[in-house]
Amino acid sequence: MPHIINPDECILCGACEAECPYEAISEKDGSMWIDPEICQDAGDCVEVCPVDAISPA
Ligand code: SF4
Repeated sequence: MPHIINPDECILCGACEAECPYEAISEKDGSMWIDPEICQDAGDCVEVCPVDAISPA
């Protein structure tokens, strides 16, 4: 299971996108999105998110 970003909590700060070692996170249609095909469950995004919007796998 890849990590998932809750769009209702995300403030689009971009921290997770910058932190992901696999470049799995990008903005798509106005929301941050984790590509499940690329995500390796590193968990770095969970650590940097200031609003705890990312659910661990
Ligand atoms: Fe959204 Fe959290 Fe990512 Fe910032 S770190 S863009 S608040 S999911």
